[in-house]
Amino acid sequence: MLTGIHITVIGGDARQLEIVRKFVEMDARLTLVGFEQLDHAFSGAGKESLEDAPLEETDVIVLPVPGTNANGEVDTIFSHETITLTEEALARTPEHCVVYSGISTDHLEKVTKRANRKLVQLFDRDDVAIYNSIPTVEGTIMMAIQHTDFTIHGAEVVVLGLGRVGMSVARTFANLGARVKVGAHKTEQLARITEMGLTPFHLEDLSKEVETCDLCINTIPAHVVTANAIAKMPTHTLIIDLASKPGGTDFRYAEKRGIKALLAPGLPGIVAPKTAGQILAKVLCQLIDEEAKLRKESS
Ligand code: NAP
Repeated sequence: MLTGIHITVIGGDARQLEIVRKFVEMDARLTLVGFEQLDHAFSGAGKESLEDAPLEETDVIVLPVPGTNANGEVDTIFSHETITLTEEALARTPEHCVVYSGISTDHLEKVTKRANRKLVQLFDRDDVAIYNSIPTVEGTIMMAIQHTDFTIHGAEVVVLGLGRVGMSVARTFANLGARVKVGAHKTEQLARITEMGLTPFHLEDLSKEVETCDLCINTIPAHVVTANAIAKMPTHTLIIDLASKPGGTDFRYAEKRGIKALLAPGLPGIVAPKTAGQILAKVLCQLIDEEAKLRKESS
């Protein structure tokens, strides 16, 4: 249970509602910032602006998966107000206050460091990232179906990266009957791709490997889908870039060549906010409870 712990939830999308629901169930004390337009009321959860929120009493701040943007703004679909997370706001919290987000940004790292508050990135955890890859793949399939006029079955699909998302994407598209090739940069990754029964290639050979590609799915957060590679793709190729913003594709050149390239962030929140929220809620409750126990022991 989270009885007696004060949590401030700032902004977010439908995933955050699952998180709030779980916090209410676990008996936490809640303040919601950036939720004015949400009709639903959660019992015991007050809605406030960031300025009026009782940050002095908050033990935990929960941000949406992307954290903040480069200017410190926190996205919310439940308010028209701009919420900016500043060092001054964080400095109002007690020293033990922990900030949780999915991923981090330079701004978020900078302000938490300056305010001397602990920042926990949930997607650094393999369990969270692997569970989250399930709705990500389902969203990728949805996009592939929506934006092509051919079946996934029988299509040549080039997946870039064999991390938590890349592995799930490659396996699922292969299970749907696609001919899957996976590009990676490490020998052990190439070995794993072979073991999975898929076709491996080194990323250095990308330009050659995309010559007959129908669908290219990038999961590498680096500039890998270069103009050189795009120049070799057939014009009907669809690029779906799953890597976090700004993605790893030369979108300008893709457009110039008439190749459809889509940056597709936040798919779990779009296709399965309930499941995606529950994945985060479960691990958040566990971490907040552990942190509270540690604090009790050391006081
Ligand atoms: P991950 O486990 O760290 O995998 C990233 C992969 O990219 C690894 O294979 C990594 O290889 C490779 N890589 C990284 N930098 C590289 C470089 N410069 N050159 C070559 N390969 C490189 O990350 P993940 O959890 O799979 O997530 C992948 C991306 O998808 C992230 O940007 C994440 O934020 C994003 N994501 C998007 C969605 C969505 O809805 N669109 C959902 C979830 C995650 P090494 O390990 O060898 O470096």
